[in-house]
Amino acid sequence: EEMNGDTTFDNTPRQVPGYHYSRVVPTPVADPRLLAWSEELAAELGLRRPPEQGAAVEVLAGNRVLESMKPFAARYGGHQFGSWAGQLGDGRAISLGEVQAPDASSWEIQLKGAGPTPYSRRADGRAVLRSSIREFLCSEAMHHLGVPTTRALSLVATGDLVVRDMFYNGNARPEPGAIVARVAPTFVRFGNFQLLAATGEIDNLRRLADYVIRRYFPALGEPSPEVYERWFAEVCQRTAVLMAHWMSVGFVHGVMNTDNMSILGLTIDYGPYGWLEPYEPGWTPNTTDFATHRYAFGQQPRIGLWNLMALAQALTPLVPDPLALRPHLDEYVATFTAKRQEMLRRKLGLTAAAASDDTPLLDALLEALAAAQVDMTIFFRRLSHCTYALLTQQAEEEATWTELLATAAYPESPAAGLDQLRQWLEQYGQRVRQETADAETIRNGMLAANPKYVLRNYLAQQAIEAAEAGDLSGVRRLLHVLKTPFDEQPEHEELAAKRPEWAREKPGSATLSCSS
Ligand code: AMP
Ligand code: MG
Ligand code: MG
Repeated sequence: EEMNGDTTFDNTPRQVPGYHYSRVVPTPVADPRLLAWSEELAAELGLRRPPEQGAAVEVLAGNRVLESMKPFAARYGGHQFGSWAGQLGDGRAISLGEVQAPDASSWEIQLKGAGPTPYSRRADGRAVLRSSIREFLCSEAMHHLGVPTTRALSLVATGDLVVRDMFYNGNARPEPGAIVARVAPTFVRFGNFQLLAATGEIDNLRRLADYVIRRYFPALGEPSPEVYERWFAEVCQRTAVLMAHWMSVGFVHGVMNTDNMSILGLTIDYGPYGWLEPYEPGWTPNTTDFATHRYAFGQQPRIGLWNLMALAQALTPLVPDPLALRPHLDEYVATFTAKRQEMLRRKLGLTAAAASDDTPLLDALLEALAAAQVDMTIFFRRLSHCTYALLTQQAEEEATWTELLATAAYPESPAAGLDQLRQWLEQYGQRVRQETADAETIRNGMLAANPKYVLRNYLAQQAIEAAEAGDLSGVRRLLHVLKTPFDEQPEHEELAAKRPEWAREKPGSATLSCSS
């Protein structure tokens, strides 16, 4: 209520100086049907699954706006691929308002693909089924992996066709449209602050900062110059923790523009993301980024820092000393490094023994993985079992490592890299034997840190292709399996398999464009 909203309900693409958001109404769709629903999130929000068609689905598709809703599209800017892009804003996302959960927490509900807004620029405000399935499945998968993320409540088919990417499947063809209802405490991004600073709207900048601090960081106290600084420090910490999570599970966001960076440190805006299969720090699924690999897996921590520098610059008008925010960027690096090590140690079953500095061992692992290009998820998962075998002397060490490497290697894994990884495993074997916990405790800790199931790129693509042909069983199965990614699920063993060779270069499986 403290913020400036443009209340003209005009969808014409335009600059909207002076405002934080624009009131809009979703554009109705032809024939909305519920395709998927997140039972866990719904339970948290105190909502019940609606029937496939009817009043509730009309709301989730934007066809019905309830009395209590005040739909709006947010105004923000951002750096895209390192260049300032000016005003961007919610071009196809419309927030309906907030709901209060039974536990009194409050959640913003946003429809992605609900039609044009003042921020749609030259695009249509719509989303296609394949990108909506990707957002729906991945946000829920990330949540169940313990990664901070926005959530997805529902996936609704609109009954309309959308023309999007002429290169998808090799020909221009209309695709089914869809809308995801996504959910987060707030969708405020770095870019909201950046745009206000760039246009010199300093009063609005302060108003937004005050609103965000009071609403989402109440523990920091009443806004003041020192509180702005502590808040920036907190955003740095959360972003560092988020980057450590992404690196730990092998997630590549794909388009870490500053408008896609949540002020709450959540994974936000699932577009051309992907999951590492062979461990390759230079890998990105985003074809738009193939020239520079700016947003490749291994670049993510430093891009997080770059984005925080851009945020610091935007917040500088709020603090008296223009250099006051700088030390927190160094703290970002320290927090990331510590968190990354802590998470890697947990993946390896190593406790922080006072006597040993594991840094060289951890660094050597990352080098060896990059050299060997084994499947990241399978390597760590199998290592959990191999470590148990080693500690209980169930198998001879050399045979254990041979089996592990054979299981995780791809045909293209370089032999020299596999040798390097074997040498690393021998060092690791010595180190893990120094742990004092019993073998079972170590194994269970490792299994709880190394998921068996992640949303492998080709699995998502297979589920999408089936869904486009009217068969949703693949989407439902993935949603189900990815709810308990750390559990063995013998009846779904094939969803934990290595990427098959046919999927190696396939569009949609290996490569995605920004319009995804
Ligand atoms: P993204 O790369 O998805 O973060 O989007 C960058 C900007 O383009 C944001 O302002 C989006 O809202 C906008 N945008 C992306 N796709 C569409 C679309 N189909 N219609 C309107 N705006 C879009
Ligand atoms: Mg975005
Ligand atoms: Mg997007």
